[in-house]
Amino acid sequence: MWLKCTCEPCPGSIPNDEQHLHEEDAVDAARAQELDEESEHGSLGPFPAPTMLTQNSSSEGNTGKAKKGPTDADFVHSLLREMRWQEAAEVTRTHCPGALPQQLVDTIGFQNDELQRELRELRWDFCKRQSPDHVGQSEEWWEGNTFYHHRRLDEHCLVKIEVNRVGNVVSLNMMYDLVPIPTRMLLAIFREVDLWKELLDPSGALDFRSELAHQYAPNDQLVLMSWQIPLRFIPRTELMLNRSMFDMLECHDQQKHCPPSFVALEVDPTGSGDDTWRGVRLPPKSGSTRLSRRLVIVAEQASGGTRLHVRSRSILPLPGWMLPTRLIMLIMKDLSAAIYTALLEVGWDRDDGIKQQFARRMEQESDFYAHCDRRIVQLRAQQSWQPHVPQPTLPPCPTGKCEREGCPFQKHSRASNNGGTHCCRRCKELTSGGSSQWLSGKHGPACQRRKHDIEA
Ligand SMILES: [Zn+2]
Ligand SMILES: [Zn+2]
Repeated sequence: MWLKCTCEPCPGSIPNDEQHLHEEDAVDAARAQELDEESEHGSLGPFPAPTMLTQNSSSEGNTGKAKKGPTDADFVHSLLREMRWQEAAEVTRTHCPGALPQQLVDTIGFQNDELQRELRELRWDFCKRQSPDHVGQSEEWWEGNTFYHHRRLDEHCLVKIEVNRVGNVVSLNMMYDLVPIPTRMLLAIFREVDLWKELLDPSGALDFRSELAHQYAPNDQLVLMSWQIPLRFIPRTELMLNRSMFDMLECHDQQKHCPPSFVALEVDPTGSGDDTWRGVRLPPKSGSTRLSRRLVIVAEQASGGTRLHVRSRSILPLPGWMLPTRLIMLIMKDLSAAIYTALLEVGWDRDDGIKQQFARRMEQESDFYAHCDRRIVQLRAQQSWQPHVPQPTLPPCPTGKCEREGCPFQKHSRASNNGGTHCCRRCKELTSGGSSQWLSGKHGPACQRRKHDIEA
């Protein structure tokens, strides 16, 4: 009953369709409103709380009298709190936008426009050659300016990569046809940006740093990242990005641009003449080379886990000879396999701290994650899938002595550290002689330094 529109100039009510308006949503919205009335929990940052919205609309003469109970503005806020911005955009487009502050309507509109633009251009499948059947089998080929690679990583997952380069513009498409880990874990990995250092650069080889520069909304942030690829001639790189997260499990996407998914979108906020973005001054450029990039990651829900789509378009501030397409592909091939291994390790019970960090965060944000769990279970039931993603057979942890001659340590327990052959990435690089001249010391910060006992 709370779904009926309460702002008088608008004759309609929010469409009474069950995807939007089942009882659980009403309960969640009421709960969300309770949280909002508490001091810190559930605060929407720069946006007024629903109670203020009601007062605002009164003072604008929309209602003329005080309203009790949740309103359409509350409904929109409850959607936003749950990252359902796509649905919020549909509501504000068709229904009573006057009841919401203009800043919020602008933010919803901005996110929706950017998202639609990206989804329209996303190719859900590419490199149509017959996929390799056997684990480890791969193939690569050129078509014009485009370099393709596909490889079967294990019995669950085939990874496909497409790199296209025209001048300094590099477009990347990547797709894992199945990542067999729980969606809740993948969502946490997407969302908890400040825990990425541990995940992306556990050995410290990239000197990865990230910082939050501004928060526009709970799902909408300005982030500054930087890293150093340990390759000759490549300077330190930094990336300024506007990142948004979307829960699109139930979106009413008329054009069917997107299957039920969680989506992360990164937009390049640089390039405006006055160094501001959506009314906020951007941090000044440091001495690093600044990359310009748009990125979208779609975690499409599947019975056995997630089908992961990645699309990016970067403008490289480097001449082609410094970073040729072949080298980009080489980096992407290594990275794609390492990311997959890391996702399996973090997704299931292979941990040496990283998983515990995510688990702690999910505990702190238990309202948010419990809500997502409910929605995921609901979606899986609609599709007649098992309630939870089944655990696959995981490859055994690396064991035995590090393969570098003279190194006294055991192999690192996480294969994602160095591919499962050495005690750490730095020790491996010493063996290959690759970039050793850039490194000091024999072992990296992530080396577990566990002495290998020689058996008789
Ligand atoms: Zn070693
Ligand atoms: Zn080591």
